[in-house]
Amino acid sequence: MKNIRNFCIIAHIDHGKSTLADRLLEFTSTVAKRDMQAQLLDNMDLERERGITIKSHAIQMQYPYKGEIYTLNLIDTPGHVDFSYEVSRSIAACEGALLIVDASQGIEAQTISNLYLAIGADLEIIPVLNKIDLPHAMPEEVTDEIVDLIGCDAGDILHASGKTGIGIEAILNAICERIPAPKGDPEAPLQALIFDSVFNSYRGIEVLFRIKNGTMRKGDKVKFMATGKEYGADEIGILGLNQEPRTEMSAGNVGYLISGIKEAREVKVGDTITHVSRPTPEAIQGFADVKPMVFAGIYPVETTEYEELRSSMEKLQLNDASLVWEPETSVALGFGFRCGFLGMLHMEIVQERLEREFNMTVITTVPSVQFHAIGTKDQMLTINAPSEMPEPNLIKLIEEPFIKAQIITASEYVGPIITLCMDKRGIIKGQSYLTSERVEMTFELPLSEIVFDFFDKLKTISRGYASLDYELIGFREADMVKLDVMLNGEKVDALSAIVHRSKSYEWGKRLCEKLRELLPRQMFDIAIQASIGQKIIARETVKALRKNVIAKCYGGDISRKRKLLEKQKEGKKRMRSVGSVEIPQEAFLAVLKID
Ligand code: GDP
Ligand code: MG
Repeated sequence: MKNIRNFCIIAHIDHGKSTLADRLLEFTSTVAKRDMQAQLLDNMDLERERGITIKSHAIQMQYPYKGEIYTLNLIDTPGHVDFSYEVSRSIAACEGALLIVDASQGIEAQTISNLYLAIGADLEIIPVLNKIDLPHAMPEEVTDEIVDLIGCDAGDILHASGKTGIGIEAILNAICERIPAPKGDPEAPLQALIFDSVFNSYRGIEVLFRIKNGTMRKGDKVKFMATGKEYGADEIGILGLNQEPRTEMSAGNVGYLISGIKEAREVKVGDTITHVSRPTPEAIQGFADVKPMVFAGIYPVETTEYEELRSSMEKLQLNDASLVWEPETSVALGFGFRCGFLGMLHMEIVQERLEREFNMTVITTVPSVQFHAIGTKDQMLTINAPSEMPEPNLIKLIEEPFIKAQIITASEYVGPIITLCMDKRGIIKGQSYLTSERVEMTFELPLSEIVFDFFDKLKTISRGYASLDYELIGFREADMVKLDVMLNGEKVDALSAIVHRSKSYEWGKRLCEKLRELLPRQMFDIAIQASIGQKIIARETVKALRKNVIAKCYGGDISRKRKLLEKQKEGKKRMRSVGSVEIPQEAFLAVLKID
């Protein structure tokens, strides 16, 4: 155990975590040169397509140092704010962290937030100045920033390039030297923390764990403490490039367990594994509950696929512990689920994973933050969907979630950023210079104003030179109203939104305009109306089609006609009929496209 090192790589998005992990794997010959590909650990299709890490990935390396072999368990983590729950769980499996900072960018918002997560978990931090090969790298300035941030000596900071391979050996040596070996007693009763899991339809659920105390052997009878269920440890092993079975694993190590579990509900990330015969008296402290930031309904396009969607969500949740949901019914859409996400990117990824990994076709409804409604008898109601909002005469006041936002930018963008935040009903709380050109600003803002498109706006006005991090700070009273949408006089609950009164008229008008663009023309006129209570505040019309599209093909060749029919069928895929009106997926997310 004295030669085990468990560490993660943390950084702001794009500072080079995954690329640096590639070099470590290469240098330790964990991956043969011919098997090497860029960002090797980003093995989900979605990660490769988008060039971002969504999941944490664990891999074990062997490294000879000063005449001994060290076992290094590396966990690469995502950098985007929506996936910080992944990072916090990975940190719980480690004693140290490489904090990567891009030498051409300097410290960014998620550098700071991920560093705090690591410090909070008592990890040994090894700062690495990365991308020093870049001609516009600023090693001196960024060194000063790092020294200021973590209070280390400039000499503790390693210089590296994940691109050229400079400094990789020094990093591996520092991991062996500076990161403490895991503590724990291999003879004690078994205590292993489940930090992740994967659904595998052939082998059953794979559980990833970190052993805190004790020893697990192949064939042992083990128990999951939260559920009390017992299993045989059919296969255990370490996570190399592929899974490598072992007969025995002890305290300090990271690995996987397969025991034919088929029910997703039986595996809970944060649970403790122990032995049936000699159980530990105490479960390891699990993870803090996730705090979802955005809520939206997810509905199957085919109403008959409700049960299948439920089981897909359970399987997806195994691999995404930050996803929460409960059943919901909508007048317009029928049976579905109200889901909580950590942000819009998370919501998008969940929808895509449901479609790709589980072959579901789903509709996502208007996202909303959580509100509190305080009733006339002071009772508090949490509102996760506009449809849950009580009639105005039944409530005393409404509270909305507020966040503290940290923005790091170049000094020339301070003015425009302040203007943007004021427009979003924000309050500036502080401003300090990191260097003569770079500023850190703190704002308090309503979550509902930033969760949808704030980050894009921020990027645009700062030409990409601004990074954002935020955390919830509580609820504050706000003058919110429920905006309803009617199509041909019929209220479509899945299109309702809760908006601030000061913006409601403008919002209603733009929403109707947007819907007019997005609703396909049909054989009759479609009246679109927005209302607050009984009052109609905006109206638009989608004009009827004059001719059937098929009529155009009259006399044309049959294959063309069939193609057209097929095309229409394709187009229907992500569409739901509400009354007589067909609503495509884009229309449900129209609020996001309102500028
Ligand atoms: P992550 O988001 O932190 O995992 O970052 P990635 O490893 O995906 O890298 C982001 C981008 O930076 C990619 O285009 C890499 O090719 C590039 N990159 C990573 N490390 C280096 C480096 O040391 N030097 C240079 N020049 N580019 C790098
Ligand atoms: Mg990455």
